[in-house]
Amino acid sequence: MKNIKVRCPATVANLVCGFDILGMALNEPCDIMQLKLLSEPKVVIRNKDEFNLPTDPEKNVAGVVLLSIMEKMNNTIGFEVEIEKHIKPGSGIGSSAASAAGAAVAANYLLGNIFSSDEVVQFAMNGEKLASGVKHADNIAPCILGGVSLIRSIHPLDIIAIPSPDLYVTVVHPQIEVRTSDARQILRKQVLLKDAIRQWGNIAGLVTGFLKNDHSLIGRSLEDVIIEPVRSILIPGFNEIKTNCKEAGALGGGISGSGPSIFMLSSSEKAAKATEQVMKEVYDRTGIAYNTYVTTINKKGVEIVSDE
Ligand code: ADP
Repeated sequence: MKNIKVRCPATVANLVCGFDILGMALNEPCDIMQLKLLSEPKVVIRNKDEFNLPTDPEKNVAGVVLLSIMEKMNNTIGFEVEIEKHIKPGSGIGSSAASAAGAAVAANYLLGNIFSSDEVVQFAMNGEKLASGVKHADNIAPCILGGVSLIRSIHPLDIIAIPSPDLYVTVVHPQIEVRTSDARQILRKQVLLKDAIRQWGNIAGLVTGFLKNDHSLIGRSLEDVIIEPVRSILIPGFNEIKTNCKEAGALGGGISGSGPSIFMLSSSEKAAKATEQVMKEVYDRTGIAYNTYVTTINKKGVEIVSDE
């Protein structure tokens, strides 16, 4: 039986102004998953990390995705999966999406790539439904496709890959818990027209900045007048980090997904490292434990690293 190993990247959803419609893949951190096809209709999950995630396939996002693929195949096959997680669950950098997307891509590969990339995204979204209660693709799509993704629509699925410049990304993950459900619940249900106009100006500016490789436009457009003012209250040190990182040379950034991670984009490695230093100083002072990453935009998405 074939045993396939895949590398599944972390992702930053929303990209500040693009709530629920934009996402980007990172080169670090990433999970490793191994998948094997079984002739019996069952899903066996083994975790090779310290996160104690459920091994019951109905409760693990990878399991839910594989069960949905099994059902589509009339339950004639099954899967054995081994998950080596490096993206901390609940960090806001797409831990659940990495498992869901990795499972869907690897299973499709084992089945001879019979499903289209939209179908693979649909299967993977079943995992996001389990993790956050909503089928969203702003982590799933960039995790599968790499680079920056625009999810123009979920019903029907309309995903556009946006070419992106070679930017550096700095991420800080303060070790505090922000529940995705809480981060959604506190949002206002209505927006003012003047805020909406500013927001769609920024989204158009950000996408144009990516397409034209215009770093200054990207920086100016990384502004969120709708979600961030409410959500940032849940993340200690957020405003200070944002202001100081920009002073240190970052183009701009904000909350990654629903937090608590914060990301910043930079044009150079030097600026990205100076940004990391600022993040460290703020959380060293507040005494909150944290992890940082200095990485680049991942252009490949879920990648097959071996196939035996
Ligand atoms: P993140 O943005 O880091 O993915 P979420 O809150 O969206 O965080 O997802 C994490 C939740 O999903 C946790 O409650 C975790 O227990 C659950 N979960 C189930 N299976 C997995 C998995 N394979 N990988 C990550 N999280 C999982």
